[in-house]
Amino acid sequence: MTFEERVPLSRFTTLGTGGPARWFGRPESVEELSEALRWAADQGVAASVVGLGSNLLVADEGVDGLVLKLAGGLATATVDGETLLAGGGAPLAVCLHRARAASLGGLEFACAIPGTAGGGVWMNAGAYGSDIAAVLDRALIVSAEGESWRTPTELGLEYRRSALRPGEVVAQTEFRLYSRPADEVKATVAEMQARRKEAQPTNKRTFGSVFKNPEHELTAGRMLEACGLRGYRIGGAQISPRHANFIENADGARSVDAIALMVEARRRAREQFGVELEHEVQLLGSLVLPKT
Ligand SMILES: Cc1cc2nc3c(=O)[nH]c(=O)nc-3n(C[C@H](O)[C@H](O)[C@H](O)COP(=O)(O)OP(=O)(O)OC[C@H]3O[C@@H](n4cnc5c(N)ncnc54)[C@H](O)[C@@H]3O)c2cc1C
Repeated sequence: MTFEERVPLSRFTTLGTGGPARWFGRPESVEELSEALRWAADQGVAASVVGLGSNLLVADEGVDGLVLKLAGGLATATVDGETLLAGGGAPLAVCLHRARAASLGGLEFACAIPGTAGGGVWMNAGAYGSDIAAVLDRALIVSAEGESWRTPTELGLEYRRSALRPGEVVAQTEFRLYSRPADEVKATVAEMQARRKEAQPTNKRTFGSVFKNPEHELTAGRMLEACGLRGYRIGGAQISPRHANFIENADGARSVDAIALMVEARRRAREQFGVELEHEVQLLGSLVLPKT
């Protein structure tokens, strides 16, 4: 397959920041994906994937490697009986739509998650008491070394993490759903979306939760709110005035602005609560979150 060069990744992140990928490819089948990953391995360059960029912070200087965005047959979803078959690049919104049209329940929680099936597996994304691990039957993982189907246990799915390693790509997923009338699915989704709208910024560019919830009586959002960080701004990035565990692109933000906010948030949480916040957002390129 052919690759484009120096494609701006800001187009593919919900925050709207990030520099160019040195090489960029859109594999449409498992064969093309394998070929791209083997090419990167032969060249000795790192390969990574972007989904819908909804929990991703990309370095402003870009990524000196191959970045892939799954497309074509790797980004569609179909239903077979009570199983939803989705390419790793299929938006969860499309998966949910297909499930509802086939009168299948189980994926309603995904209405809150603006990512792909593959990104959902990588993050073990979840909301409203459910997560990908609860509904995933198995996923096809492709790397330069080969391919294998893995169960949630083999994928090491835990709270907002998996044991997948860089260079391992979720190419296909199979979700085990159950029969549920479409109007009931629709009603649950409407209720979840209304709750979401009340609590979080829904009309701003963000990347979802910045930090994982710590083992503490307060959530990360409540903790950062107690630190007085709502509305706190560095450069073009701002901690959401509505929910302190969200960073918004207020005006021409750069990824480095978001990193500076995260450093400050961690410093304050440590000082005020003695808690070391762990970031949920994934970093791509030469970004590091310095320990201060
Ligand atoms: C408004 C908003 C609300 C959100 N609410 C929630 C929520 O309620 N719950 C929740 O869990 N998350 C939430 N998120 C975060 C985000 O939607 C999830 O983490 C989602 O799973 C990320 O999927 P993605 O496809 O956008 O992945 P990306 O953000 O593009 O990537 C995230 C990570 O997954 C990797 N990745 C992506 N695709 C693949 C693949 N096919 N194979 C291997 N690795 C891959 C990337 O390399 C990266 O490391 C929210 C985000 C926003 C913007």
